[in-house]
Amino acid sequence: MEIKYKFGVLPLFKPIASMLVFNKIASLQNHLRSLPNFPTIGFVPTMGALHEGHLQLVREARQNCDIVVASIFVNPLQFNNSQDFAKYPITLEKDEALLKSVGCHILFAPNAQEMYPTQPQLKFDFGPLETVMEGKFRPGHFNGVGIVVSKLFHIVAPHTVYFGQKDFQQCAVIQALIKDLSFPITMVTVPTVREKSGLAMSSRNQRLSPEGLTKAASIYQGLQAGETILLKTRDLEAAQKAILQVVASAGIEVEYVEIADPDTLIAPTPTSSKLVICFAGFLEGVRLIDNILIDYIHA
Ligand code: AMP
Repeated sequence: MEIKYKFGVLPLFKPIASMLVFNKIASLQNHLRSLPNFPTIGFVPTMGALHEGHLQLVREARQNCDIVVASIFVNPLQFNNSQDFAKYPITLEKDEALLKSVGCHILFAPNAQEMYPTQPQLKFDFGPLETVMEGKFRPGHFNGVGIVVSKLFHIVAPHTVYFGQKDFQQCAVIQALIKDLSFPITMVTVPTVREKSGLAMSSRNQRLSPEGLTKAASIYQGLQAGETILLKTRDLEAAQKAILQVVASAGIEVEYVEIADPDTLIAPTPTSSKLVICFAGFLEGVRLIDNILIDYIHA
């Protein structure tokens, strides 16, 4: 997978005085269809509880599109764990203010009845992507992602969509969805935004204690230790061991550490020019994921 945008300094956009908020599909579509001069539409789908990572996607969209639409919808279909769904943070008022502060033009915030008046019967199967990492440990997750993202793409009809590298496998799934269903959409993958400690920003971090936040930073430290070994020796086993050691010493319960070819997400060949290390684990009952992309050619 190509990460199209290299992280850099984006211009500051003027906050906008009024952002339009729609809760209904029909009113959003009526508005979008009434816009003059066929503006280019950039779309940032989210589940809310926004942080700098989400805002970076909006800034990127602002830089490249005439109109930016963000959505907030906690999609029940993509949660395979009902506790995780029930505990997902909801901070709508704060999210609206944050979106305005980075110049988002339109927020689409439907409820579950609006998105799923009936339970979808359609099932997505993303083939090999379903059998590894997030697909393997969260059965049905990518079916839920595929359904909600397809619906949102039809509703918003964007030209460009913005997703975060933080959800590396999700980016691969969305690329497959766009290609296989011929959505006339370009996807941009934005590098992971991190706390000063290196911890990948995530809405779920809100559920960690201050001590947990410190411990969780060891995930990125572990990934960096793995990266150093891979760049020096390409020894996958040694890298995996080093990562496990770092995160285990912080009390993180590991679900998986996988080193894969970033294009196929399966085991790399000895000549793969890029590798991705993907991590998932639990701390204080919160599921955390992260990844690091290793590029042998440009390292
Ligand atoms: P979510 O609200 O968690 O579904 O995320 C919405 C979008 O924001 C997805 O494309 C995520 O990959 C992206 N995202 C979440 N966290 C980050 C982060 N720390 N850096 C960059 N993008 C992120």
